[in-house]
Amino acid sequence: MPESFKAILVSRDADKKQSVTVEEMTEADLMDGDVTVAVEATTINYKDGLAITGKAPVVRRWPLVPGIDFAGTVLSSDHPDWRKGDRVVLNGWGVGETHYGAFAGRARVNGDWLVPLPEGMSAHDAMAIGTAGYTAMLCVMALERHGITPDRGPVVVTGAAGGVGSVAVALLSGLGYHVVASTGRSAESGYLAELGAAEVIAREELSQPGKPLGKERWAGGVDTVGSATLANVLSMTAYGGAVAACGLAGGMDLPATVAPFILRGVSLLGVDSVMAPKKIRLEAWRRIGADLDPAKLAALSTTIGFDGIVEAAHAIVDGKVRGRIVVDM
Ligand code: NDP
Repeated sequence: MPESFKAILVSRDADKKQSVTVEEMTEADLMDGDVTVAVEATTINYKDGLAITGKAPVVRRWPLVPGIDFAGTVLSSDHPDWRKGDRVVLNGWGVGETHYGAFAGRARVNGDWLVPLPEGMSAHDAMAIGTAGYTAMLCVMALERHGITPDRGPVVVTGAAGGVGSVAVALLSGLGYHVVASTGRSAESGYLAELGAAEVIAREELSQPGKPLGKERWAGGVDTVGSATLANVLSMTAYGGAVAACGLAGGMDLPATVAPFILRGVSLLGVDSVMAPKKIRLEAWRRIGADLDPAKLAALSTTIGFDGIVEAAHAIVDGKVRGRIVVDM
């Protein structure tokens, strides 16, 4: 008998009504790929929450095993870069969207999508980082490329108590930036200070429609919220500054004017993690290994088991998750 493993399956009936079930699968049920991995840890990202709840069209192949991130060990490989026993990480590439994903004991994927688990890092810690943390690093790298160094002034992080936000706060403060953390959860002020935030401001300061140009408050920022929040962050960015935009937790629209761009030379830096080229991924993971304080990573993550995935997926879209959730398989 082939070995079986548990998997979460998202399905849709003829009326397009979505359901989520736990199935027993074998490797024969997996999709095509040249590397099979034993999934040791995964995580709940906002996108996984959208996939499981069906609140946004993340799932584009039915039925589907969701889960956009995993870390584990190669069980078999026909890919030249990978051998049995190799420790690997996967983030994105459509896994958990169009290809069976991480919420299963095994995953079969294209070996080109894998990166090595950084030296000395556990599968658990790689998933405490996950796509959210790796995206936070991509945002930091984008700001650096634009010359936003700590001496230029404060940087703002929106959605600061969320996954991307928490890692961004920890990374930026560790690099010496004065971090202004914007959160809708004032009860998390102590948590954000522990991660290194120098100031905590209320979400409402940025979420209401504002003026085309405001007082220059920061040299740059990491925005995970979008909508009026991003418009206000831009309007309050100092001359020559830059904002890395990666999220839409507050909405996909951008009710802004061109004033910050044409009167203050502000730049809006788009950040995508899903299709980011391998070279950039490897650099982001190297930088995370070098720049993220392990004590802060432990402080910002909580651990659940496979059976807690669906509940956590609902909690993240309801904005009730603090920091990062690791799923130990
Ligand atoms: P989380 O749910 O962990 O964090 C989002 C945070 O945004 C919440 O914790 C909350 O922070 C804040 N928030 C939630 N709802 C609202 C609202 N209505 N208005 C204002 N703020 C709100 O998600 P992640 O950190 O995993 O992801 C953050 C965003 O980044 C998501 O939109 C996700 O899709 C996107 N993303 C994009 C990637 C890319 O490749 N571009 C990769 C990874 C994520 P608080 O309580 O502190 O206010």
